Amino acid sequence: MIREECGIFGMYGHQEAARYVYLGLHFLQHRGQESCGIISSDHISLYKQIGLGKVSEFFDEAKLNYLRGTQAIGHVRYSTTGSPTLVNTQPLSAMTQKGPIALAHNGNLTNAMEIRKRLMEEGQAFSTTSDSEVILHLIARAPYDDLVMSTRWALAQLEGAFAVLVMNRDTLVAARDPHGFRPLAMGTIGEVITSEAETYVFSSEDTAFGIVGATRRREILPNEMVVVGPEGMRTLSIVESPPPTRQCVFELIYFAKPSSRVFETSVYQYRYEIGKQLAREFPVEADYVVPVPDSGIVAAIGYSEESGIPMSLGLIRSHYVGRTFIEPTQGIRDFGVRMKFMPVPEVIQNKRIVLIDDSIVRGTTSRKIVQVIKEMKPKEIHFRVASPPVKYPCFYGIDFSRPEELLANKLKTLEEIAHYIGVDSVGYVSVDGLFPSGLVDEQHFCRACFDGHYPTKITTVSKESFDHEIKQASLR
Ligand code: SF4
Repeated sequence: MIREECGIFGMYGHQEAARYVYLGLHFLQHRGQESCGIISSDHISLYKQIGLGKVSEFFDEAKLNYLRGTQAIGHVRYSTTGSPTLVNTQPLSAMTQKGPIALAHNGNLTNAMEIRKRLMEEGQAFSTTSDSEVILHLIARAPYDDLVMSTRWALAQLEGAFAVLVMNRDTLVAARDPHGFRPLAMGTIGEVITSEAETYVFSSEDTAFGIVGATRRREILPNEMVVVGPEGMRTLSIVESPPPTRQCVFELIYFAKPSSRVFETSVYQYRYEIGKQLAREFPVEADYVVPVPDSGIVAAIGYSEESGIPMSLGLIRSHYVGRTFIEPTQGIRDFGVRMKFMPVPEVIQNKRIVLIDDSIVRGTTSRKIVQVIKEMKPKEIHFRVASPPVKYPCFYGIDFSRPEELLANKLKTLEEIAHYIGVDSVGYVSVDGLFPSGLVDEQHFCRACFDGHYPTKITTVSKESFDHEIKQASLR
């Protein structure tokens, strides 16, 4: 299982900013279900509501009524299999000499541990274990009075991945790191952007704009800070000489909703093309193409169209299974997967099927899904994966697993992987195949989890920090 990253949503210049952020966060819920929060602001103060669980579970009328003001930022945080914790729930906030400041961060900083150690040696106290807190402290300590220059000064010291929303009582800053690992889109409610203040909206994914009636304007660029405040909107660069753009290709493969446009690319179109590419690279004779719902559906459509093999829904996903169901004490084999996926005998029995999913990380879920399908007695199962083998950890905010747990690290050949999962054959799309010409420019993408070429330096300290995070997660 890939533990998901986070989603952020912000609004500036609207009487019901917090309620709109609340609505927007619903449409980013796929990016994290462990915890959620909103901080709003008027000219007097910041108002904060953070808690565990999904947005619809935590927020109620009273909490939303408390969130006053015309600007607000919100955050949803990734899910884990253990019990969640409140301490790292975002947005974070602090009272500083520059007034109250709030922060929502998506991504992972590779030099957070070094900065944290340095600040602690200087006497700085930390109240969370989150790397995001260093951003807040750097802003507070920056040698400037105003939020914009302080934020710029702080962000310029960071390495790794960040899409952030930073806010005080009258200004909101939206920024992406110089490599542009994580996405962040900007929209408006009302007429075309002018220098006059109007309603601005920011979201990890633009699919959340629809519910608040916002029009997508563009993405925040890598290395760009967009500032909205009493003087209107302006943009700044974070560093003078930015490194090459390296956007996370896994956003397109897995994280973003197919209805989103991420890195100026339609996620639906991308997955469809990768499905077609997969059919060209790993053709097979079969009766049906069967997607693992929902993650494999769009790639399966592409595979089906390219191969001419009809697509059929051989697995139905239950959308009604809550996070906490009671497992029978006698232990049904593969209980979790059985609660989630129901096989359709008419599609599977005595048929040759091509099973499509977007990725295989540890392989345990894929193996369980195959076991459930096999009980319906298919003639053959051929597993096709719409991404290359994941062989390396991600240090930029996608929490795969320990490197030694990655299936493609443990098993070297396709035959070994097929045998482990329990299928007749397996095929992954190639790394070159991830970048269909005319759709995405491969120069601008990170693919380090597939080829091990990290765009930033990965120090021993960042590796230690990674190991620490994994340990913390497994302890929860
Ligand atoms: S290592 Fe993989 S998951 Fe991490 S940012 Fe790069 S492409 Fe994305």
